[in-house]
Amino acid sequence: MTTDEPSRHDWTRAGFATRAIHAGQDPDPTTGAVVPPIYQVSTFKQDGVGGLRNGYEYSRSANPTRAALEEALEAVESGARGFAFSSGLAAEDTLLRATLRPGDHVVVPDDAYGGTYRLIARVFGPWGIEHTAVDLSDVDAVAAAIDQGRTKAVWVETPTNPLLGIADIAALSALARAAGAVLAVDNTFGTPYLQQPLALGADVVVHSTTKYIGGHSDVVGGALVVADGAQLPVGLMGPTGTTSLADAIGFHQNSSGAVAGPFDSWLTLRGLKTLALRMDRHCSNALTVATFLRDHPAVTQVIYPGLPEHPGHEVASRQMSGFGGMVAFRVGSVEKALDVCARTRVFTLAESLGGVESLIEHPGRMTHASVAGSALEVPDDLVRLSVGIEDVADLVADLGQALA
Ligand SMILES: *Cc1c(COP(=O)(O)O)cnc(C)c1O
Repeated sequence: MTTDEPSRHDWTRAGFATRAIHAGQDPDPTTGAVVPPIYQVSTFKQDGVGGLRNGYEYSRSANPTRAALEEALEAVESGARGFAFSSGLAAEDTLLRATLRPGDHVVVPDDAYGGTYRLIARVFGPWGIEHTAVDLSDVDAVAAAIDQGRTKAVWVETPTNPLLGIADIAALSALARAAGAVLAVDNTFGTPYLQQPLALGADVVVHSTTKYIGGHSDVVGGALVVADGAQLPVGLMGPTGTTSLADAIGFHQNSSGAVAGPFDSWLTLRGLKTLALRMDRHCSNALTVATFLRDHPAVTQVIYPGLPEHPGHEVASRQMSGFGGMVAFRVGSVEKALDVCARTRVFTLAESLGGVESLIEHPGRMTHASVAGSALEVPDDLVRLSVGIEDVADLVADLGQALA
């Protein structure tokens, strides 16, 4: 750091949209560039052996564009440290390696994102990690699933994918804390704009930034944001000789190396700047679409946490400032579900979610095919929508013609 550089502004007290646009993104001190440049570089000149400029040595360990994204993510989740990865699953993999050891047990949602379940059951399972899948909306069931002394992590997803179940983060965090386990919350569907898990007691937030944070279906990425003071599970000493969860994750991020590249980091940062605006529109469009589907005779059930009849509506109203852009509905048979997916024109048939454009998919045969036959299997007449930010009249008309 040179002495004539102005001291960096503290954005932590600013509002959400201001943090998303400015935190970690001060104008470039050399050129005045108003957004962080893409530092497409692998290594950095040292001013004499060990004389690093601002700590930069090699881009796996740290890269200025990724550092800007990590600081911005940390600010929008109100956390102490952010880490950016090459995908959401890379972030999850790093978190699980940092917190679990052979013989440990983890509690997982019984309708977790399919890839999360596959990672825990089929990658970590053979390495000696056991898991129990439970309905996280049932706090007593979670309490019963915790094996005192052996459960080292409770994995929360809320709202869940694809059934949009709601878990009470504050209640589950109290259970995890009492067990000495880490409480991780996958906030991909909630987004930091609508839900702040660290403020509700979570130790670490997980993101697939591929989804709402990136927001434009043009980049795959993941993130972890750790709460101030968060610790490893009770009894575990981290690889750097501390019990700090952030230190352990930092060590694993550098040691395993599944980092976000400079261009991916830049795209994700660009998406993050408009997250607040986009989420407002996602929420209002999704509510209009859910209400339309609820009143449609071809639809047997609509699942949206913003509808008062949703079983998690009360908890979601308490812990979220909006209900998000994901809607699921059932049509009575797999044939009808596949037919609707084939007939929409504005909703594109594709996996993934959270982009500006609306998507439709059949979880049973697409995103959740990997959990068929497991406790996480989803109904085969279920259709999932990622409601985009187009004109809502066009979205409703498109679903209307597809269901006719
Ligand atoms: C997509 C997704 C992931 C995995 O993220 P990738 O970026 O695809 O690796 C994890 N959790 C949720 C809820 C997701 O939707």
